Amino acid sequence: MNASDPASRHVVLVGGGHSHVTVVKSFGMKREPGVVVTLIAKELHAPYSGMLPGLIAGHYTYDECHIDLVRLTSWAGVRLIHGSATGIDRASKRVLIEGRPSLGYDLLSIDVGITPKLDSVPGAAAHGIAVKPVSTFFRRWSELERAALTPGGPRRIVLIGAGAAGFELILAIRHRFLTRASKVGIDPTEFAFCLIGSGGLLPTHNKRARKLARRFIAEHEIDFVEGDRAVQIEPTRVALASGAAIDADAVLLSTEAGPAEWFGTTDLPKDERGFLAARPTLQLLDDDDVFAVGDCATILEHKREKAGVFAVRQGPPLTENLRRRARGATAEPFVPQTEFLTLLSTGGKHAIAARNGLALAGKWVWKWKDHIDRTFVDKFNVLPSMADSGSQGHADMRCAGCAAKVGPVTLSRALDRLGGEARERDDVAIIDDDGTHLRLETLDFFRAFWPEPYLLGEIAAVHGMNDVLAKGGRPTHALANVVLPYAKPARVEEDLFQLLAGAKSSFGKEDIVLVGGHSSEGAELAAGFFVSGSVKRDRLIGKRGMKPGDKLILTRPLGTGILFAALMRGQARGEDIVVALETMRRTTGSIARATLEFSPTAGTDITGFGLVGHLSEMLNDDAGSIELDLQSLPLYPGVLRLARSGITSTLLPENLQCSSSITGAAANDAAVMAILFDPQTAGGFVFTIAEDLAEACLTAVRHAGAEHAAIIGRVVKGSPAATSCIVVTGELNG
Ligand SMILES: Cc1cc2nc3c(=O)[nH]c(=O)nc-3n(C[C@H](O)[C@H](O)[C@H](O)COP(=O)(O)OP(=O)(O)OC[C@H]3O[C@@H](n4cnc5c(N)ncnc54)[C@H](O)[C@@H]3O)c2cc1C
Repeated sequence: MNASDPASRHVVLVGGGHSHVTVVKSFGMKREPGVVVTLIAKELHAPYSGMLPGLIAGHYTYDECHIDLVRLTSWAGVRLIHGSATGIDRASKRVLIEGRPSLGYDLLSIDVGITPKLDSVPGAAAHGIAVKPVSTFFRRWSELERAALTPGGPRRIVLIGAGAAGFELILAIRHRFLTRASKVGIDPTEFAFCLIGSGGLLPTHNKRARKLARRFIAEHEIDFVEGDRAVQIEPTRVALASGAAIDADAVLLSTEAGPAEWFGTTDLPKDERGFLAARPTLQLLDDDDVFAVGDCATILEHKREKAGVFAVRQGPPLTENLRRRARGATAEPFVPQTEFLTLLSTGGKHAIAARNGLALAGKWVWKWKDHIDRTFVDKFNVLPSMADSGSQGHADMRCAGCAAKVGPVTLSRALDRLGGEARERDDVAIIDDDGTHLRLETLDFFRAFWPEPYLLGEIAAVHGMNDVLAKGGRPTHALANVVLPYAKPARVEEDLFQLLAGAKSSFGKEDIVLVGGHSSEGAELAAGFFVSGSVKRDRLIGKRGMKPGDKLILTRPLGTGILFAALMRGQARGEDIVVALETMRRTTGSIARATLEFSPTAGTDITGFGLVGHLSEMLNDDAGSIELDLQSLPLYPGVLRLARSGITSTLLPENLQCSSSITGAAANDAAVMAILFDPQTAGGFVFTIAEDLAEACLTAVRHAGAEHAAIIGRVVKGSPAATSCIVVTGELNG
């Protein structure tokens, strides 16, 4: 966003469904001037349903059939909120979100799919596995697969619902179990499969497709129960309306699904089944600023069955209409097709194609389907470089967060030029007021490494309080310094509110009062906090007090600089980013306090200069050198792989200028050095603890919430004349 292009419209997308991924990609390919887009997504990997049976059968990996929403939104410059919408307040144009403040919108689009109606068959909620929504089904399926492929596990598999999804799934499950069983020492003939379809097999498909499907079911020895209805699911059987029963160890349901429950609490217009009632323009019946697409909506003039193909086809007209409304124009109607091609997989690499009364089957149909499906998912997972796309992502490719800091050598040179004025180089002012306590004051500030203000506020607050906590102090007050992108006043207000609400939430958990602060407009979102606190004079933890024999405890994994550099380049896995974000937003007061019980001899928090950069500040010739054991270093998932593939933070070259203090063979390994000097945002503490207390301290710190904390090395006394240094041993684990 630049000054001539102030953000004035906020488009909020609720749900990472099949239509919204197209909207996100399109807004990334072609920025809409003055528009900020936010996606609220319950799941961060959007499953492509067409490939789900192939995933179950074992033909695809999880990543091949899921769209990574973290990577996609980051590439597109779209803000991402990992959360669940719970309501819409149309009077004040806000989306209610579980566990955090509501979010204001100018234009809203809802694509949240369907919810299983488990109450339609008694016992289903307790003993059944719903195949919809697809995202939660996969977790349940993984548990079933693990159990079924162990001795004594479930063998009699029943699937209720013989529509397209049920047909494909029972064949896929059978294929998976029978191909894996003998490999894990289980007799495949122990398995039995049954499909129950009260309305017949593939009731909405043409006659030829139904005939082919019936043949496959019979050839694969799947019992097909037709014209009878499941009325009760019990732990070991399914009771039918006819009075018969089917033995079952596992029951899956691909039956009727309904609208999201929270729709019922809103005034949104609905059809007779409770789905959102929309016009051909995809806008709600009574609201030009709210759109509804995919399975969760019914276009009253063009009713179609609930199928992913329609949600996919709605993506481009929805994008166009959101753009039109953002510019103040009226939305255009869209007429969905009535006939569409269905491609149904049949377990192995084989499929049925059906359209316009025709149906064909063969391995070539599978290849065709495979090509179509992979092309669709790759469109969202294999993204063009930002330079080619003109995307609104991070055009300059400079890292943000603590990786956007000025390097240590540049900083030193500037401070040296100040001469005597700059005697104190700590990032905490320690003020002696002549009382029993010392005052601690610290300031941090960085460009946003994550564009969504609430989460950024939470993490920046944690980062800010860490300096005081590392000194053994208790932070009490904070002041904000926030730069907000140029925007219309209402947008600035919303961003500032969200950021401060996130910060307040983090500070509140540690009883720190956010007193006020300073805000200004600028080219990019940036935030930081002045945090003050105090420490009892005799409890102050300095950086240089370590003693020979002390052990070093690191409280958080390393690698945030590498991970966010990779995200910016489209190389990170969303899952890895989320693990890091979830850790970074956790406040650290209890961890610091747990350590203090063991009287650390020295300590610091790991920020911009990286682990070794900050350990270098702790060295003192009286104590000796630090022996760092690489094997014990905790790393965030994905960091070692990314470092080995050459991804590093843009601050790394500057940080490496301070690498003279490091020795050992690993110092010649570029990936190891990239990790050791990786700038950390909301990084961990390093404390040195007397040898005999270290294990107990580690246990306490882990118990306080730092479950990845580790003893990463020790202080070793060298010869009296030796200069202290950091000796690296072992190999990284990752
Ligand atoms: C096994 C199986 C195979 C199928 N195969 C096909 C096929 O081959 N062809 C076809 O056309 N259809 C197929 N379908 C149907 C298809 O899955 C759905 O029609 C399709 O997923 C609907 O897309 P959608 O965008 O409406 O919703 P979804 O794809 O369900 O996406 C909705 C998203 O919204 C998120 N969400 C939900 N609630 C909230 C909330 N409150 N806040 C934020 N986010 C939320 C969910 O996590 C989800 O990611 C299949 C279904 C199954 C179960």
